[in-house]
Amino acid sequence: MPRIVQLPSSVITKIAAGEVIERPSSVVKELLENSIDAGSTRIEIDLEQGGTDLIRVVDDGCGIDQADLRLAFASHATSKLRDADDLFRIGTMGFRGEALASIGGVGQVTLQSRAAGQDSGAELICNGGDYSEVRPWNGAPGTRIEVRHLFFNTPVRKKFLKTHSTELGHITDTLQRIALAHSHLHLVLRHNNRLVLEVPAAASLPERIALFFGSDVREKLYWVDTVQGSARLTGFIADPSCDRGNAKLQYLFLNGRWIRDRSLGHAMQEAYRGLLMTGRYAIAFLYLTLPPDEVDVNVHPTKTEVRFRDGQALYHLVRAAVKQRLNDENLVPRLQAPPETPREGGEVTVTTAPESSLFDAPPVTRGADATLLDELAAKPAPTFHPPMINGDLGGRALQIHDSYLVVETPAGMLVIDQHALHERILFEQLRRRIRDGQLEVQRLLIPEPIDLPAEQAACVLEAKAELGQLGLEIDDFGGGTVLLTSYPALLGRISPLDIFKGTLDCLLNKERPPTKEQMLHHLLATMACKAAVKAGDKLTQEEIIHLMELRDLAEDSHHCPHGRPTSLIFSKHELEKQFRRV
Ligand code: ADP
Ligand code: MG
Repeated sequence: MPRIVQLPSSVITKIAAGEVIERPSSVVKELLENSIDAGSTRIEIDLEQGGTDLIRVVDDGCGIDQADLRLAFASHATSKLRDADDLFRIGTMGFRGEALASIGGVGQVTLQSRAAGQDSGAELICNGGDYSEVRPWNGAPGTRIEVRHLFFNTPVRKKFLKTHSTELGHITDTLQRIALAHSHLHLVLRHNNRLVLEVPAAASLPERIALFFGSDVREKLYWVDTVQGSARLTGFIADPSCDRGNAKLQYLFLNGRWIRDRSLGHAMQEAYRGLLMTGRYAIAFLYLTLPPDEVDVNVHPTKTEVRFRDGQALYHLVRAAVKQRLNDENLVPRLQAPPETPREGGEVTVTTAPESSLFDAPPVTRGADATLLDELAAKPAPTFHPPMINGDLGGRALQIHDSYLVVETPAGMLVIDQHALHERILFEQLRRRIRDGQLEVQRLLIPEPIDLPAEQAACVLEAKAELGQLGLEIDDFGGGTVLLTSYPALLGRISPLDIFKGTLDCLLNKERPPTKEQMLHHLLATMACKAAVKAGDKLTQEEIIHLMELRDLAEDSHHCPHGRPTSLIFSKHELEKQFRRV
C-alpha cells in the first residue's frame, strides 16, 4: 500500500506553476498584470530567444516595499485581497498571489523594486524556489523583474516549448490584448535587442487597432455604446467586408481583462448572421463593464474564463447591440448576391469531374455563403420529373413538421425522415469517392487554427492519415493548436470547422472502434450527419424532388449510416385495412 506523504513546498510550487505558467507568454502576462495593478504608465519588456532565455519587465509603478520583497514570492501572498468577500469585488488584474511564487519556482528570477517615495530600493533573487538575501538596490522608482532560463528545473515542461518565433508570437498576442485593454499604457517590446513593438500612451484605441491589424481595419470600424441595467458594452465592431477565417480578432474585454467566452462569441456571430459567408468571422473589439459582483473571475487559473451571474442577459445585450449597430449602417445582406469567384481565401482542388447533382456541386460554382437551401431554391425548377419511387408520381411529396416527407407510391405511402435520408446519401457519395480516390478537396488558403487541450491535439494528430483520407487535412501548429488546411468540397455547405468538430467528438470517444476500417466508417457517418439537412429545415419543392432523385440512386436508401430507418412504408392494403375498407 503506498504511503501518503505531504509534498515538499518545492514540489507544490511546481505543481501550482503548471496551472499558471505554461510558456513564456504566461510569464509576460502575469508580470504585465502586476505592473498594471501597480499603476504603471510605462512598461518595457525585453526578451531573448522567444523569452526562454530572458524575460525582463521594467515598470514605473508603485513598487514593492523592501520589507515585503520576500513575501511577494510566497504563494498565496498578495496585497490585493484581504478576505473571502473581496473575491467578489475584484478590481485588480491579480488577486491569487500565486504568479510570482510560480515563476520563482520554475525560473531564475531577480526582483528589484523601489517603492514610491523611498530613497532607495532592494533586490532579491529567487532561483527555482531558493532565495537570496534581500540586498539594497539603487534603481529608479518602480519594479524591474528578470526571469532567466524558464523551466530550467522542469526539463519536461521545457520540451513542450515551441520555436522561439512561435513563443514570441504568443507574447505579442498577450501584449496586444493588454494594449487594447489599457489604452493609456505606453508599451515597449524588444526581442534580442531589436524593437518589435512600441505603443505610445497617446495612441487611441483605433490607432492601436491600426497598429496591430492594419489601417484598412481602422477605416471600417463602427462604434458601439449600449447600457443595459448595470452592464455597459462599448467598443468597435468592424464592417463585415473585413471578415477573417477565424474568430481570433473577436476581442472581448471584461472590466479591463481579456477574456474568452464561447456564448458571447456566439452572440457576436449571430448578430452578423446573413452578412458573412459561412466559416467567416467578424472583427470586433468589445468592452464589457460590469459591477464586480456580477461576475466570478475566480474560476480559471489564468482568469481568461469567467462565470457571469446572468450570462443570458449579456448574450442578448451583445447580440442586440451589435445587430442594431449593423442595422444602422444599412448593410445589405450578402446572401442575396453570391459572388462568382470562389470563396475568398480558398481554392478548390478538383480531382475529378463533378457530377451534375446539385448536392454535389463543388463550391467553385456557387456562392460559398449560400446555404444548400438557397442554392437549390435559386435553381430553376427541373423541366422533367424523373421517375419517383416505384413509378411516375414525381413531385407528389409533402413535407410535414419541416422534418418528414410524405410520398405517394403506387403501392401505398412512404414517410421519410429527411435528415436520415440525406445523411445516407452524403455518406454514400463520400464513401464512393474515397473508394475511387476521387474526393474533391477544398483547400483553405488561410488554415483554420483549432485550439485543443494537448492530449486531444495528440489524439487528433495520431489520426492524421485517416482524416486526410476523408479530405480533412491537418497540421501540427504546436502548443495544442491544430491547423485545418482542407475539407471535402462535397460538404461545402457547412463550415469546415463544424465538419472537423464533428469528427473530433468521434475521435475522442473513449470507445473507439477497434479497426481502422470501422473507424473510417464511423468518421464518415459523423461527417455526413453534420452536413445533412436537419429536422426542422424547411425544404422547397425542388429540394424535395432532388432528394427523391438521389434516393433512387442510393445503394441502401432504407437505413441511415447509423442503421436507423430512413423511411416507413404504409402499403395501400394496410391503409385500406386500417380504414376497414377491406
Ligand atoms: P497577485 O498579483 O495575485 O497579488 P503575484 O504573485 O502576481 O500575486 O504578486 C504578489 C504581490 O507582489 C502582489 O500582490 C503585489 O503586491 C506585488 N507585486 C508584484 N509585482 C509587482 C509590481 N510590478 N509592482 C508592484 N508590486 C508588485
Ligand atoms: Mg499578479
